[in-house]
Amino acid sequence: MTATLILAPGRERSVLRRHPWIFAGAVDRIDGRARPGDTVVVQASNGRALGRAALSPESQIRARMWTFVDESIDDAFFRRTVARAVEQRRDLPELAPEFEASGGVRLLHGESDGLPGVVADRYSDVIVLQITSAGGEKWRDAIADALTRVTGIARIYERSDPDVRALEGLVARTGWLTGAAGSEGEAPRPLIAERAASGRVNIEVDVAGGHKTGFYLDQRDSRRLCGELAQGRRVLNCFCYTGGFSLHALAGGATEVLSIDSSGPALDLARANLAHNPGLEAARATWLEADVFQHLRTLRAEGRKFDLVVLDPPKFAPSASHAKSAARAYKDINLLGLRLLAPGGLLMTYSCSAGIDPAMFQGIVADAAADAGIGARVLRRLSAGVDHPVGLAFPEGEYLKGLLIRVA
Ligand code: SAH
Repeated sequence: MTATLILAPGRERSVLRRHPWIFAGAVDRIDGRARPGDTVVVQASNGRALGRAALSPESQIRARMWTFVDESIDDAFFRRTVARAVEQRRDLPELAPEFEASGGVRLLHGESDGLPGVVADRYSDVIVLQITSAGGEKWRDAIADALTRVTGIARIYERSDPDVRALEGLVARTGWLTGAAGSEGEAPRPLIAERAASGRVNIEVDVAGGHKTGFYLDQRDSRRLCGELAQGRRVLNCFCYTGGFSLHALAGGATEVLSIDSSGPALDLARANLAHNPGLEAARATWLEADVFQHLRTLRAEGRKFDLVVLDPPKFAPSASHAKSAARAYKDINLLGLRLLAPGGLLMTYSCSAGIDPAMFQGIVADAAADAGIGARVLRRLSAGVDHPVGLAFPEGEYLKGLLIRVA
C-alpha cells in the first residue's frame, strides 16, 4: 500500500503551483509506512489529492514531487519522463550539433525536467548520471535503462558524489553503472566538440575526476559568445578550469589569452585541451596556477590591461544563508576585474550561486563599478543554455546568471 503524506492546513499552495519541494514544516503527517525514496501520495489537509512524491525522511526537503496528476510511479513513468526530456531537446534546432556523435549536452536537468535530484549529461559516447535524491536513488536502474533506450548509449558512468547526498542520508557512489552493457574498464575521458567562432573546439572531459559530471556544459553558449567577441582582443580568463573560454577566445582570434585557475590538474587538462586543437595558436596562450583574488592585484600593480575579462568563479553561496559573505567575494573580484579593463573593454561576469538572484547579482556588479569609479552598461544578460531549462514554478533552477558588460 502506498503511504499518504498529508500537508498541514494551508500548506498546499506551493504544490498547487507545481513547485516540486515539500519542506518538513509543511508536512502534517504520513499515514502508512514509507522508507527513503518510496513513493507517497500527497494530499492537502482537506483530502484533495495533489500528486505523488518521493519521500526523503532525513532531509529538510521531506518529499519531492514526481507528478502533479494521478498516475503510478513505475518503470513506465521513468521511460516516459526521460524520453520526453531527451526528445524535446533533440527537437530544438539549436541543439542539433550537440546531438551529433561528438556532442556534449545535458539530457536530464533535475527538477526542471520533472526528475528532482537526477542529472544526466551526454559527452560523446558516454552518459554521466548524477543522483542526489533518495527518490532518484530508488529508481536509478529504471532511469539508466530509459536513458539507454532513448539515446542508444549503453555506457553510463555514475558521478553520484556531491556533498548534498549526505543530507538525504545517501553515501557517495561513482563508477560504471552495474548492468550497463559495454561499461567496463578505465574511467572514460571522452572528447567533445563545441561549435566555436570559427570551426569547432575539442575538449576532453575527465568524467571520473572533473567537477560536477566532469565539465560545465551550462556555459556552452557563453564560451561561444566569448569566442565571437575575442577577435583582436587581449583576453583574461579567470577561474578557467580546463580552458573552455580560453580555447574559444583563441579560436575567435584573441591576440593573447591569460588563463588563471588554482587547480593544477584542471590546468594540466587545459594544456592537453589546447593540444587537442592543433589549429589554435598555442603561443598566444599562458596558463597560470594562482589564486585569482591575489593575482588580479598583482596584474594591476604591474599595470596590465585587457580588452575582455571573463570571471566565472565557483559557487560562493551554496544557499541563501551564505549570500552576504558571497556578495563580498563577488564584489571583490568584479572590482578587480573591472579595473584591469582597457577603455571600451568587455566583462563577462557570472554567479552560479543559487543563493544570489539575478537582480542581486546585477546590484553587486553595479556596486563594484561604482567603487571603481567606472561607468559601465549591460549589453546582454547571460544564462545557461536551452538544455538547462528552468521550471517556471522553480525559480531556484535559475542558478547560473551572467552579464556582458562594456565599460566606458
Ligand atoms: N569557466 C569554466 C568553469 C569554471 S569552474 C568552464 O567554462 O569550464 C570554477 C573554477 O574556479 C574551478 O576550476 C576552480 O578550480 C577554480 N577556483 C576556485 N577558487 C579559485 C581561486 N580562488 N582562484 C583561482 N581559481 C579558483
